[in-house]
Amino acid sequence: MRRTLYLKFLLAYLIFGLFGVLVIATFVPAMTREQLIREKAETLYSEASLIAGTYASGLYTSQASLENVKNQMDALAVYLDSTIRIINPSGRLILDTDMPLNVEDPLILEQFDPTVTKGSYYTVGNFFDSFDRDMLSVIAPITTDYKVRGYVTIHSDMAPIQSFCNSLVNISYLTLGILLLLSLIILIFFTEIVYIPLRKITYATEQYAAGNMHYEFSIDSEDEIGYLAACLSYMASEIARTEDDQKKFVANVSHDFRSPLTSIRGYLEAMLDGTIPQEAHEKYLTIVLNETDRLTKLTNGLLTLNNLNTKGMLLDFSDFDINQVIRDTAAAFEGTCRRKSITIELFLTGDTLYVRADMGKIQQVLYNLIDNAIKFSSSNSIIKVETTLKHSKVFLSVKDSGIGIPKEDLRFIWDRFYKSDLSRGKDKKGTGLGLSISKEIILAHNEHINVVSTPGEGSEFIFTLPLSKEEAEED
Ligand code: ADP
Repeated sequence: MRRTLYLKFLLAYLIFGLFGVLVIATFVPAMTREQLIREKAETLYSEASLIAGTYASGLYTSQASLENVKNQMDALAVYLDSTIRIINPSGRLILDTDMPLNVEDPLILEQFDPTVTKGSYYTVGNFFDSFDRDMLSVIAPITTDYKVRGYVTIHSDMAPIQSFCNSLVNISYLTLGILLLLSLIILIFFTEIVYIPLRKITYATEQYAAGNMHYEFSIDSEDEIGYLAACLSYMASEIARTEDDQKKFVANVSHDFRSPLTSIRGYLEAMLDGTIPQEAHEKYLTIVLNETDRLTKLTNGLLTLNNLNTKGMLLDFSDFDINQVIRDTAAAFEGTCRRKSITIELFLTGDTLYVRADMGKIQQVLYNLIDNAIKFSSSNSIIKVETTLKHSKVFLSVKDSGIGIPKEDLRFIWDRFYKSDLSRGKDKKGTGLGLSISKEIILAHNEHINVVSTPGEGSEFIFTLPLSKEEAEED
């Protein structure tokens, strides 16, 4: 593709040049000659008509002598740089500015025919063999008393007209040459602006097609090609990132599945071969059960994430009372809270607060956030769940006074399988999927979720939801 595009452009350039030369070689000389002859003939014809109407008709009405007219014609002929003749209808030459007067033996133009101009007022040739070279001749009739008495003919040499025509054609060739040279600038621009960037893009595409997604290139231009290059390079970096994520994801999944499986296997083997005595079986079976719980949680989390990735389509929108959902979710943690002596305080706006969202999914987000808040809080602490209303948006906040999240971890907590070092000791059952599921759910609703946290002081997770239509209208 690369070479042919350039060749095509070069070919177009050559065709343009060739056609230019062809047009100049064929049409221009004929057209220029035609135009020059017509202009010259027009001038000569009006002179001939003027002579026919004045001096020459005077000759026939005997108002002027032949010598007199001849003198005036001679002067005019010099002025016009041509030959002037007065000819009888029969072809007899009465006067010729190229020759002295000869009344006794006048020259007769055999086959003289005044209609030789055939509709136009000029003819090119040797004028009835009276010239030895090509002449441009015009014929104007001399009329007195509505009768044609004779003709005034003016003959101009074709050689100067032809040479003028040739020099004009040469100028056209020169102009074409200059034009072709100037259009080379377009070729240079094309090479610089289109061809070279396109080659870079093609090379990059080849690299990407060969799997080298980390190949980097840039085209320093603000036009469409620059934009295309930027998009392509962004696309490649995104694919590279997804590939890396995928590898990391598979590594994490394998790791997270392997550790509970290894411990289950270890305990079961130890029980079977008697390393663990019969009386300790119950204790270890409980551990095994916990590990299978963890595996179930992990599998469910993965399934949820997978479904959420097929964006939007799984959301089942309805108008529901978010206050009630918060109350219900908080109630579900009663047992856990009691065990840890943790209090959940609710600060809800209004009795009811209707939002439009997927109730089940939002309940899951709330569950994850409250679950984390409890997990990462110490005993005897308070967790605050709050709803506030701002510009038709409901802001939900889950705030704890637990271990908090180190600043350097904040960026990663939304990633799949991420667990901060701080939390590992506190929460052995965590899968690291809860927050990434929550974020996917909120993003699928086109809403936002964020966290503010200070290590040692606590964390606050806030997300938004849209008010239901009715509630927004009342607002
Ligand atoms: P997990 O199932 O491990 O809780 P999450 O995705 O819910 O997974 O959380 C990811 C990590 O974010 C946790 O392991 C923890 O390090 C941190 N985290 C989440 N919520 C809190 C919180 N309320 N307080 C402190 N750390 C938190």
